[in-house]
Amino acid sequence: MPIQGISSLSKADLNGKTVLVRVDFNVPIHDGVITDDSRIKAALPTLKDLLQHGARCVVVSHLGRPKGKVDPALSLACVGKHLATLLDVPCKMMAGCIEEEVVSGIQADSDSRVFLLENIRFYAEETTNDAGFSRQLAGLADIFVQDAFGAVHRAHASTVGVANFLPSYAGLLVEKELHYLSGALKQPQRPFVAIVGGAKVSSKIAVLSHLLDVVDTLIIGGGMAFTFLKAQGLEVGTSLVEQDQCDVALQLLEKAKQLGKQIVLPRDVIVSAEFGQGPDAAIETVLADAIPKHKMGLDIGPLTLEAIEGVLQGVKTVVWNGPMGVFEMDAFAQGTLKVARFLASSNGTIIVGGGDSVAAINQSGLAEQFDHISTGGGACLEYLEGKVLPGIACLDKTL
Ligand code: AMP
Repeated sequence: MPIQGISSLSKADLNGKTVLVRVDFNVPIHDGVITDDSRIKAALPTLKDLLQHGARCVVVSHLGRPKGKVDPALSLACVGKHLATLLDVPCKMMAGCIEEEVVSGIQADSDSRVFLLENIRFYAEETTNDAGFSRQLAGLADIFVQDAFGAVHRAHASTVGVANFLPSYAGLLVEKELHYLSGALKQPQRPFVAIVGGAKVSSKIAVLSHLLDVVDTLIIGGGMAFTFLKAQGLEVGTSLVEQDQCDVALQLLEKAKQLGKQIVLPRDVIVSAEFGQGPDAAIETVLADAIPKHKMGLDIGPLTLEAIEGVLQGVKTVVWNGPMGVFEMDAFAQGTLKVARFLASSNGTIIVGGGDSVAAINQSGLAEQFDHISTGGGACLEYLEGKVLPGIACLDKTL
């Protein structure tokens, strides 16, 4: 699925070439054990494709935040072992990234097909996008392939700098992400509905505003909905409210009115006396205009779900970012899970955009039934804001 303006891997001559592949292997590791390998699995199609076409892969990734210093706890060594198992191809772990022995080690080893460089963030020059460092990295290979969608919003040496020195292509994961995300934003099948939830208006204001321009209907749930209710003059008890965002919320409601678009807000909510109570906490369902003074809204209620399901009937495209309630606690997870179930049975193209909504969908066990679950939290959010992602823009060359 080639994307306009981006050099597709299918156009590259790979046979006999050494390819520097930027992946996102920033996986959770506890006591040396990878607890979720989905990011490694997401890079396999590109790596397999490169190998099948006769290329050698020099794989580069970051892990955690070592802040430019070597931290053995953040070595990629255990990731290399796991990668070899998943690929069923030996993977040679390198002791660094740009040192002479790494360069000559890769050049001299004609037997190995996959090399994994050590954590690129052990080098301060990575995050400063140092040109000399980028040139050294580029010197390891003939071609650069960008497949780290989770890191394309960062202008670092291994995500952007290297592209100045090598023919650069999008990997299959990046292509898939762009296919779904740009397809939704630029040429959506309509009706097109966005569902935005999560904690704060302030962190998603740019997303809300940009999505409002392109969708037919915007559904707002989660903690951020209370700022909208409060801005309209409702009492919301002790619910999460960002007082300084009330004006912004009103401006968005006004913008929707002018565009003739509908914003759906909670009609009823599940409230509790305080956040973080145990499973026996007294909860009740109240109308959104009757939230008791000392209670806090922690999920959407059944009337709201009914309204959401009504809007989602026959929908052709959905972009969903952020949970409808505090889904980490069973008592307040129903709103999010019911929306997930409803979307899973929809015939439209359903795209889940990164972060906590992905965790909620994994929790629901329905992940397989969604068309696309983005692997990039921050990158996906910035794309939905309409921002240019530097790690993608650098591939926008005519080759
Ligand atoms: P975000 O990272 O902005 O997508 O926010 C996700 C977080 O929002 C999750 O940890 C949820 O528990 C939280 N959240 C969702 N609904 C509410 C709510 N009504 N009150 C407080 N926090 C919420």
